[in-house]
Amino acid sequence: LNIIEKTTLDHEEMKALNREVREYFKEHVNPGFLEYRKSVTAGGDYGAVEWQAGSLNTLVDTQGQEFIDCLGGFGIFNVGHRNPVVVSAVEQQLAKQPLHSQELLDPLRALLAKTLAALTPGKLKYSFFSNSGTESVEAALKLAKAYQGKRGKYTFVATSGAFHGKSLGALSATAKSTFRKPFMPLVPGFRHVPFGDIDAMRTLLSECQKTGDDVAAVILEPVQGEGGVILPPEGYLSAVRKLCDEFGALMILDEVQTGMGRTGKMFACEHENVQPDILCLAKALGGGVMPIGATVATEEVFSVLFENPFLHTTTFGGNPLACAAALATINVLLEENLPRQSAEKGALLLEGFQALAADYPELITEVRGKGMLMAIEFTHNDIGYNFASEMFRQHILVAGTLNNAKTIRIEPPLTLELSQCEQVLKAAKVALEHLSELQEPEDDAA
Ligand code: PLP
Repeated sequence: LNIIEKTTLDHEEMKALNREVREYFKEHVNPGFLEYRKSVTAGGDYGAVEWQAGSLNTLVDTQGQEFIDCLGGFGIFNVGHRNPVVVSAVEQQLAKQPLHSQELLDPLRALLAKTLAALTPGKLKYSFFSNSGTESVEAALKLAKAYQGKRGKYTFVATSGAFHGKSLGALSATAKSTFRKPFMPLVPGFRHVPFGDIDAMRTLLSECQKTGDDVAAVILEPVQGEGGVILPPEGYLSAVRKLCDEFGALMILDEVQTGMGRTGKMFACEHENVQPDILCLAKALGGGVMPIGATVATEEVFSVLFENPFLHTTTFGGNPLACAAALATINVLLEENLPRQSAEKGALLLEGFQALAADYPELITEVRGKGMLMAIEFTHNDIGYNFASEMFRQHILVAGTLNNAKTIRIEPPLTLELSQCEQVLKAAKVALEHLSELQEPEDDAA
């Protein structure tokens, strides 16, 4: 970028920077977002994004410039980019047998299921493997429906602000109306209550019971990711667990984004010792090398699939390459104690951002997070956008959430080095200083 070396920017220069960042993406990353989408969808002329892994924690663009990745592929790079242990496991499997669809011949799938049973909390024992977070949620909903249908329970309770994916079932649990509207009516029986509000949850469960629309399952994220990194009040998850037990509803925890060490424990529900009936995993489970989803359930719930194993199947789910990646990923997470590292480095970053927020109350309304899943809430969309541009200028990648551009998400690889954490905080300080200067009223007398 032409003005990348300048240390302070005035209004005009800031605007120019935003233009440059846009141009930069147009030229080096994609030729305009819409055109890019069209071209990718149609297999057109434009070519694809050509960033590549620089180190575990960085990406290198087409010009060889290195950026610290504070986006982490929206939560898939917990063990970093191209982690050598994961890459090597996948390469070895590739040389043996990349795919086959015969689960009975697949020792890796069995080994991963056994590993997840040991790793996950409580009585979670059996895994259904798929290829994404959405599929993992879809399988969870179908499992719950098959199990609870026998008991005459058909209602699902989800939370406002939730994101669970966009297939018809998952979208019925996802809350954002702009995603839902064109597909209405969605799957019947889904109700939403405010996230974090245990009284609202209790009221709805008891209303449903009174009207005979008994709740089959409650589905929620322990920390809402795409909804803007929203943390519920302490004790909320365990209170939901108690309510589920009281009303005979299953508890489905969607840890697609929070799982695999992201929040400072291997699974976010472990912060409150909560044991769900069904746990959804995906994203980082494949180590940023292979796509994989896993729906892990208790024996009691999963037994509906033993009555007829063909009720829910998928050809590629739990394929050897994906399982090899997941097993290697779990190995790295445990060997390097990355959940613990996530807690420690996350706390350091959070503290740093919070100190900055205290210095710039006119720019930042809140900094929140758990482990390495954090968000900085800016006062306006354009300030969030300018902050992302400023960070980009200093070679750090951050982005907004599906919610909006004023909620900037910080979700780096858990392997981020301490020196890189410091670099990120230093860059944020510089960015905020600039943005604050831009906020100053113009001096009329000058
Ligand atoms: N559930 C949660 C909590 C998510 O954050 C996401 C994706 O962001 C999904 C489900 C959907 O996962 P995928 O995009 O892999 O289908």
